[in-house]
Amino acid sequence: MFKLINTRSKKLFEQAKKVIPGGVNSPVRAFKSVGGTPIFINHALGAYLIDEDENKYIDYISSWGPMIIGHAHPEIINAINNQSLKGTSYGIPTELENKMAELVVSLAPNVDKVRFVNSGTEACMSAVRLARGYTNRDKIIKFSGCYHGHSDSFLIQAGSGASTLGVPNSPGITKGTASDTLLANYNDISQVENIFKNHQDEIAAIILEPIAGNMGCVLPKKDFIPQLRKLCSKNGALLIFDEVMTGFRLGLGGAQEILGVDADLITYGKVIGGGLPVGAFGGKKEIMDFLAPDGPVYQAGTLSGNPIAMAAGYAMLNHLKSNSDIYDSLNKKTKYLKMGIEQVLLKSNIPFQINSIGSMISVHFTDDPVIDFETAKYGDNIHFKNYFHGMLSNGVYLPPSAYESYFLNDAISYKDIDYTISSLSKIISKI
Ligand SMILES: *Cc1c(COP(=O)(O)O)cnc(C)c1O
Repeated sequence: MFKLINTRSKKLFEQAKKVIPGGVNSPVRAFKSVGGTPIFINHALGAYLIDEDENKYIDYISSWGPMIIGHAHPEIINAINNQSLKGTSYGIPTELENKMAELVVSLAPNVDKVRFVNSGTEACMSAVRLARGYTNRDKIIKFSGCYHGHSDSFLIQAGSGASTLGVPNSPGITKGTASDTLLANYNDISQVENIFKNHQDEIAAIILEPIAGNMGCVLPKKDFIPQLRKLCSKNGALLIFDEVMTGFRLGLGGAQEILGVDADLITYGKVIGGGLPVGAFGGKKEIMDFLAPDGPVYQAGTLSGNPIAMAAGYAMLNHLKSNSDIYDSLNKKTKYLKMGIEQVLLKSNIPFQINSIGSMISVHFTDDPVIDFETAKYGDNIHFKNYFHGMLSNGVYLPPSAYESYFLNDAISYKDIDYTISSLSKIISKI
């Protein structure tokens, strides 16, 4: 229905499928939930992606978060170039790691010490292991629709009926692992209270996205997070904020600062690496000191604290620190986008909800407020597919799944947003 010349992308995808499972290195890239062929990117600059067929797109995914100041930003590129001339990996400490850790500790609330890893997955996996080791308990509570990477403990879905016992949502995850993850619905505090009642002294931690972005953008109800904090403190469990998405995106202090709630452990990824593979987890000194080599909980990594990755992350965080008005700017741009989309959709008969905070926003084609995974699933996927492909064919790259938030980058201009809104007007009758 929508025309996009993508001859070369199609050819590359066919070639990719022969040697890479599904043709991609991360499933969401394959366009499975929207259909069609993924586009292959040739290069990116500022707010724009340019694909292998020389189509240009305004980029609303920003590499799923990291590229908050736009692509190929000179400060990041210079940092990478300069470090690369000194060698790419040593597996031996560097001063750069100290500087990066000092910067994170100075910016992130409740982080006395931080350990760097290579991805958000690793950060969350390691934080949970640390919580288990520190509390000497096995079980964790996670919320349906929150994503914490692909490590076994997190690939768990709700079991049947009212049971909070998790079951694997991928083959390859053992029942034993699944039974240590207890599931609750986001924004449902009574479920969490019940879990604590039924599993007294068994819960090592609650892990959650304090502001969720992996079922679309879903905000916590006003008292939800403070109540989780209280339940954790009361029951001797740790509260882990997964800020892989929100950390350094919603502000220098992340969701902790916005919500005014202190977490015991906090995980980072995405923005913290400036587009290179960096994850991190941090927290109070007495908990972090439980990690090897000082403590008993093992955790390691050949490329952890990699000098090029640290150089990129350090340049990124320094840039954000010196230009913290960027958050205000992103906030305003996102509100402007939201208003524009709203005005176009209101003129149609299509039901919709728009959830948004800071530079995160998602459009759901449903009448019901989207407050958890269940209500996110009410979204009409036919409308979503047409919306996605319509926008793509007009040069607007939105997330190819209704369960993903958009991430604005500050290179996006008001002119780009106006263009985005007028593109929606153009296609609205066809979605
Ligand atoms: C992306 C994401 C992860 C996983 O990070 P990877 O770097 O993809 O492993 C974990 N938690 C949240 C909230 C995320 O958004």
